[in-house]
Amino acid sequence: MNAMKLEGKNNIGNVYSAEGTKTFQAVNPSTKETIEPFFHEATLTEIDKAVQKAHEAFQQYRLITRDKKAEFLTCIGDEIMALGDQLITRCMEETGLAEARLIGERARTVNQLYLFSALVKEGSWVDARLDTADPNRKPLPKPDLRSMQKALGPVGVFGASNFPMAYSVAGGDTTSALAAGCTVVIKAHPAHPGACELVGQAILTAIKKCNMPDGTFSMVHGQSTDVGLAIVRHPMIKAIGFTGSFRGGKALFDEANKRPEPIPVYAEMGSTNPVFILPGALKERGKDIARDFASSVTLGVGQFCTNPGLVILPPSEFKEEFITNVSKHIEDTAAGVMLTEGIRNNFQQGVNILQTLSGVEEVSSGKESETGFTASAHFFESDIKSFLSNPTLEEEVFGPSTLAITASTKSELIQAAKKIHGHLTATVIGTDKDLEEYHDLIHILEQKAGRLIINGYPTGVEVCHAMVHGGPFPATTDSRTTSVGTSSITRFSRPVCYQNFPDALLPEELKSNNPLGIWRLLNGERIKK
Ligand code: NAP
Repeated sequence: MNAMKLEGKNNIGNVYSAEGTKTFQAVNPSTKETIEPFFHEATLTEIDKAVQKAHEAFQQYRLITRDKKAEFLTCIGDEIMALGDQLITRCMEETGLAEARLIGERARTVNQLYLFSALVKEGSWVDARLDTADPNRKPLPKPDLRSMQKALGPVGVFGASNFPMAYSVAGGDTTSALAAGCTVVIKAHPAHPGACELVGQAILTAIKKCNMPDGTFSMVHGQSTDVGLAIVRHPMIKAIGFTGSFRGGKALFDEANKRPEPIPVYAEMGSTNPVFILPGALKERGKDIARDFASSVTLGVGQFCTNPGLVILPPSEFKEEFITNVSKHIEDTAAGVMLTEGIRNNFQQGVNILQTLSGVEEVSSGKESETGFTASAHFFESDIKSFLSNPTLEEEVFGPSTLAITASTKSELIQAAKKIHGHLTATVIGTDKDLEEYHDLIHILEQKAGRLIINGYPTGVEVCHAMVHGGPFPATTDSRTTSVGTSSITRFSRPVCYQNFPDALLPEELKSNNPLGIWRLLNGERIKK
């Protein structure tokens, strides 16, 4: 396929638009050089047009059959693959991420689209519930009641810089929103606008090939917060999907709550992902744990929301040896290029705060480099008393940094677990005996994180049916949901109940003879007939 020329314009439905005068360029974080072309920041009028189109398209798109929707999602995946090397090369230039990592991320993104396509085609996700009438019930007859999940409306999506495909234009939020039957207006991430344009074009090609309504998807560019805020404020936007920093997610959540009509904001934000190491495991395999833990901390220059930024060590004579072993790995770690200058500066600021905080000691740091927006790894140590009294120690430092908290008794370790706030993940490393002895730890962590891991590491999020990528605040703004996996679809739907409807007026999913052959709850029994 011939390389596509980048326009640097907004996509208002199927139409390219560049009405504004404000422009910006992507920057290669490895060379600090700007990359062609200039991108036009969307004006308020363009954003309004995009949302109006999304609203109009929604009236048709919400009614599209499950087979056509499934075909559309598959087609988006195919079109992303058809972009070929151009997408990978552009992502490498804009993010500094390695080719192999990006090829893997593309596969994950496309497989996610295929997974949702299969989910929609199978159809049972709508959670159809039928309670048939009982006209003879005393003292009052029982009406016929049937309910199912229906799409919410146009959704505003914000992607993160660290996943230019999997959490971006055709990432989990867009995919689950389109699968639910919602139309999407995305704010392209200014750190990788070219990659956004390429993937946006793949979606628009799929829209044309599958005859989806114009306005099913729009994309607006912007480097100023005004663009994102205008999407959140627009009265026709019915939900927000956000992946990014706590600062950004909370600002958009607060903005949405100022609207006359409140809407759900599913903000998946940063996390410190505590790892609890138990005494038996530390004694038996401390050296291996130190190696694996350090590689999880430094993987991808630490730029993962599941990066383990906190490790709680138990009362054990092997603690010091563990700290020495982690230190050796950190010292051997080469400096890595971060995604943007802003992210590198924020990382440096977070490290500086820890370096000057009383009660915290810097144990080791990695190799340094002056090329590009690079960062070195850092390893800090503190004690339970400081951890319990200073909330800063639990804050995300996005990048290759981690903090060890040493407990002198089991009770101190449990106190630390009770103190932690919401996280995306919590990990426990222990022998069978440890896990038995510390079983109360699991009960505490269940209340703190979306995903609990035993004897593994939090980095790496499987896209599947059972995944929960969420957690209590401040990991997200809605702990009841996940942003990864097929359950994420219900963020963009709501239940509608139909009372005493004649069969002909009911959606196919709720008709008496179950024409779609989906799983339904019929008078309390889960059946497929
Ligand atoms: P970010 O700075 O929050 O940016 C995300 C998007 O939100 C961008 O389009 C950004 O636009 C916009 N935005 C941020 N603040 C805004 C505001 N006040 N008003 C309007 N729009 C705003 O996040 P990032 O630096 O790209 O990503 C790194 C962060 O994402 C890390 O903290 C990481 O842990 C987190 N993350 C979380 C997950 C998860 O699933 N929970 C996954 C990946 C990454 P502008 O740049 O134009 O402001």
